[in-house]
Amino acid sequence: MTKFKCIQLISLLFFSPTVFSSNIHVEKLSDQVHVLSGKEYGTNIGLITTENGLILIDPMPGGGHLLELDNIVKSIYDKPIIYILNTHAHSDHTGGNEFFIKQGARFVESISNSDDFVHIKVKSHSSNDNIYYHKISNTIFVGDVFDTSWHPTFYAGGTQGFNDAIDTIMKLGDEQALIVPGHGAPASKLSLLEFRKNTSEWIMRVRELHQKGWDEDRIMNDAQAKSIVEKFNLGDRSPFLPQKAFKRFIERTISVIEKEKGM
Ligand SMILES: [Zn+2]
Repeated sequence: MTKFKCIQLISLLFFSPTVFSSNIHVEKLSDQVHVLSGKEYGTNIGLITTENGLILIDPMPGGGHLLELDNIVKSIYDKPIIYILNTHAHSDHTGGNEFFIKQGARFVESISNSDDFVHIKVKSHSSNDNIYYHKISNTIFVGDVFDTSWHPTFYAGGTQGFNDAIDTIMKLGDEQALIVPGHGAPASKLSLLEFRKNTSEWIMRVRELHQKGWDEDRIMNDAQAKSIVEKFNLGDRSPFLPQKAFKRFIERTISVIEKEKGM
């Protein structure tokens, strides 16, 4: 590599808010925070610098890209990774833990003795969802409670758990707070409220059709249900959901509705 190209690359890494390496997308949110995501799962990986070292949230860019992630982290901040946090225990978020633990990082659920972080547990996407709020940067990491690239997945907590989780997130930071979902682009509190509104519209429509005795296949062809799902298609993908995923979303929504029937 020529000296000029090398300087070009370095300036790109340090001065551009958005950088694409071959497999990992890097976005600078503030001086202290970056979000990285691999092509494999699109899981948002939080990278936070503190006085004592670096914190990685959900460091999983895909099994084959952990070394690449490590190199990118080192090129952004010249500090050791001290803590690994996970928003929840699904493998697309936890799969890289061991790699970084072997290099000396510690997996923790909360960062004790830290005034910079707020950690709150909720139950929505999984039975144990962790919300991490980084005060200095006004950034909230919420895992798969919120998704800006997919439909909602509130299966563990149901309607109540989902709404409680959104309320919890809304109370953190101010109206300028940036919310980092488990997958998809970081978004504002307004987008989160829109996501909640669309989610309750979805549940209401599926409940209505399910009560009429419609099965999954019939609901899949309901124009209103289809148009509600399109509201989650923020990236204007076409098609947004493969048919199989759409059907599964309806099935899982019905199981939540059935579970809540007697409540
Ligand atoms: Zn996920």
